Amino acid sequence: MNAPAEVLEERTGSCLCGRNRFTVRGPADFPHLCWCGHCQRLGGAPVMWWAGWPKDRITWTAGELTWYETFPGEAKRAFCGNCGTRVAAIDASEPNIGINVTALHDTTGQDLVPVAQSFRENAVSWLPVVTDTRHGSVG
Ligand SMILES: [Zn+2]
Ligand SMILES: [Zn+2]
Repeated sequence: MNAPAEVLEERTGSCLCGRNRFTVRGPADFPHLCWCGHCQRLGGAPVMWWAGWPKDRITWTAGELTWYETFPGEAKRAFCGNCGTRVAAIDASEPNIGINVTALHDTTGQDLVPVAQSFRENAVSWLPVVTDTRHGSVG
């Protein structure tokens, strides 16, 4: 008797205008906040909220993202060329694709609660910082 195939929870996401749509399957890996200067400038906010999924668990279902190389050859980030929503990031050293959690339609999953924050030395003084419960390599 064969074991039933693993059923992975699917989540949908999109940019604000809806041109770019995607789904992710299965639990998020290493949800974290990032206070780095790139996240602050690109995100238009003091901090960005990231989580990773393996490439084969992300399906781009509509649209075409615009990629911007933040560190040429090492890191790039994707946004909607129409509405500007930040959607994803790829780090050459990181097997997962980073997804801006705020691009998901449902951000309530326990697996999305940040377990760490990167570049906390760059955090603004007037927002509380979350406790690091895990450490990872991604920024
Ligand atoms: Zn858009
Ligand atoms: Zn960052």
